[in-house]
Amino acid sequence: MGDQSESPERIYCNKCRRKTLHRLLYTTSGERTDEYAADNWEPDGGDVPSCIYFDMLGCCGCNTAVLRRVFHCNDPEMHRKLGGAGRVLGEDEVADDIRYFPPAIVRDLPPWRFKLPIDMRKLLEEIYRSLDAQSLRLPMMGARTLVDMMIVEKIGDIGNFKEKLKELEKEGFVSARNREALYVALEVGNAAAHRGHAATESEVQAVMDIVETMLQAIYVFSELAQNLKANTPARPPRPPKAP
Ligand SMILES: [Zn+2]
Repeated sequence: MGDQSESPERIYCNKCRRKTLHRLLYTTSGERTDEYAADNWEPDGGDVPSCIYFDMLGCCGCNTAVLRRVFHCNDPEMHRKLGGAGRVLGEDEVADDIRYFPPAIVRDLPPWRFKLPIDMRKLLEEIYRSLDAQSLRLPMMGARTLVDMMIVEKIGDIGNFKEKLKELEKEGFVSARNREALYVALEVGNAAAHRGHAATESEVQAVMDIVETMLQAIYVFSELAQNLKANTPARPPRPPKAP
């Protein structure tokens, strides 16, 4: 079960953006009895050595609080049945299923998202919520859909993804090199949607980088460039060359 001592422990702080010492502010772990567990978890009311408790922890650096939910059950079969995601350590030992609220933020939402069409911005925000929930497949399916929405908005719904990307290049929205990178990134989303493939965390980050770079170039930089052009005084004409 969780550490019941008063000594601070090192967990991730969303504000400090790293693991920091946290002290335990409050815990419901006193309610950890088998009776409590049986009432709450075993449909037949059987004697199940499982329980759930909550800890409120505060960062020693910035005082930001986080709620931790701990699900403890050492029977691997029962652990799975009750929806736990703890790792099986041995025959009678399963790691506690620990979740944090709010979850650790893995990536900052880009501030330029408000330049996107509203549906695309909302999808991007949903992708970020699934990233924070440590999903690996959903954000990749979402990233692929996001690019699809952008293509339909810019050039219409034509052909398959490869053809759409070619059209995107032809229309000057992406370079040949970026199109290639985008295609590779979107294949990850395709594999997630159709083959249940889970990319690694760093692959997910790379795909998000590629997709966001493209969205930023199309929806943010082109407008910035136009504004700059409108506000920059034109060069004065060169004086005529002396004869
Ligand atoms: Zn902190």
